[in-house]
Amino acid sequence: MNTASPACIRVANFVGGRWHTPSTGSWLDVHNPATGELIAQTPLCTANEVNAAVEAAGVAYPSWRRTPAEDRIQPLFKLKNLLEAHQDELAGLITLENGKTLAEARGEIRRAIENVEVACGIPTMMQGYNLEDVASGIDEMMIRQPLGVVAAITPFNFPGMIPFWFLPYAIACGNTFVLKASERVPLTMVRAFELMEQIGLPPGVVTLVHGGQEAANAIIDHPAVKAVSFVGSTRVARLVYIRAAERGKRAQCQGGAKNCVVILPDADMESAGRIIADSAFGCAGQRCLAVSVAVTVGDAQRRFRDVILDLAGKIRTGPGQDVTTTMGPVISPQSQSRIEGLIAAGKDDGAKILVDGRQPTQVSSSGYFVAPTVLDEVPANSRLTNTEIFGPVLSLVHACDIDEALGILGSTPYGNQASLFTSSGAAARKFRYEAPAGNIGINIGVAAPMAYFPFSGWNDSFFGVLHGQGRDAVEFYTQEKVVVERWVMEHSRKF
Ligand code: NAD
Repeated sequence: MNTASPACIRVANFVGGRWHTPSTGSWLDVHNPATGELIAQTPLCTANEVNAAVEAAGVAYPSWRRTPAEDRIQPLFKLKNLLEAHQDELAGLITLENGKTLAEARGEIRRAIENVEVACGIPTMMQGYNLEDVASGIDEMMIRQPLGVVAAITPFNFPGMIPFWFLPYAIACGNTFVLKASERVPLTMVRAFELMEQIGLPPGVVTLVHGGQEAANAIIDHPAVKAVSFVGSTRVARLVYIRAAERGKRAQCQGGAKNCVVILPDADMESAGRIIADSAFGCAGQRCLAVSVAVTVGDAQRRFRDVILDLAGKIRTGPGQDVTTTMGPVISPQSQSRIEGLIAAGKDDGAKILVDGRQPTQVSSSGYFVAPTVLDEVPANSRLTNTEIFGPVLSLVHACDIDEALGILGSTPYGNQASLFTSSGAAARKFRYEAPAGNIGINIGVAAPMAYFPFSGWNDSFFGVLHGQGRDAVEFYTQEKVVVERWVMEHSRKF
């Protein structure tokens, strides 16, 4: 990292295997969300700077594509070991720029490493299939080939994990890869790319370019970029998907969420409460799989409310660096005031605020803190039940039975996750069968698929066909080629 002044780091792009300070005159200040202190500046790169980065990735592609799969994965084994050795350092950077606790940040790096591990299986995962004698003397095979330069545009909430939903699979499949990380959290990926300098990748196989909307659009528009992976808000996911499709490119665009959990009366309330509190308030509610609405059925209403109120009150909000903190700040003052505004809107709509996390007094006022908040009797048509809050706010809604609860789930336009807490296998099966979301949790609060399963959002939470991670990633980053061959075997001929 280049230090422009002792107090602030100006981050650089990684292009063609070297660090370059962009010439853009436009830089975005990055603040520590726990203190408000200036910690870095991100260059908002222009289309010219992005084009140079994509072209360097294009130069690296032909020989990387010819490198055998077995050789392409060797750097990934080294990367796994380096990420493990630097897990605490990377977690410290995540906490510094994103605000989540150190324990949450370490868990995030673990999830990144899992994706590197799965991509090491590319020699098996990338195999096609074949059939001898599809007609007399004719054989047919399907092989998978890489696409060329591929790119990812990622959000602020998992600076260390989400880029690794894409990077290891893309390069293991033989593509070269361009990342535009979130301009709000640049430091973690800068350090990760510094580590990648040590793993033996040829220059240009991985590229890091910083910026905001202009840089993202330049990536999507560049003719050499063959595929775009995006994670962020639904508004931008839709824009990116349309823009990529207009240019004839494949795209996978993961959007926002509004996740509901249903609690049946036969659930173990203590355990459900602990798990749901972690889902709603962990990472300050800034997870795309965070539970935001809890729908209680029958007499689960009173019992769950008692448990969640008790747990919400015990969460220690504070700086993520402090080991006694169990919930950190939100990302920005704008985010803080937006969340506070939605809590007020919920009250205006008729909800009762049972725990109010606005302007908590136990933390520094220069950080961007909202403590856990619980609202009860939230009307089904309230802004709170339909808007992605992305903060530590849980709305309690009541339903008479599981069918009514499923109806409430179906009323949001999103479909990232839905969870059920129960001890009934029949109820669990009904929920799995009918819930309109792509990631389902049964007695699970954050149903985050392991790296060898697709991260499977539905509806307004995902635009595309093939998801991130696992086999879907291999299909997304390769194109199928079918070969039909005739070789005449003359049985009398000696070779
Ligand atoms: P965001 O949409 O503001 O930004 C995401 C990325 O898009 C950033 O890199 C940003 O620079 C870029 N960008 C912003 N405006 C753009 C535009 N007009 N055109 C092209 N690119 C643009 O999202 P965020 O605030 O960083 O992240 C939070 C959001 O991400 C939440 O909505 C959350 O639910 C979602 N998210 C979804 C998933 C998922 O798997 N579905 C995972 C994590 C986060």
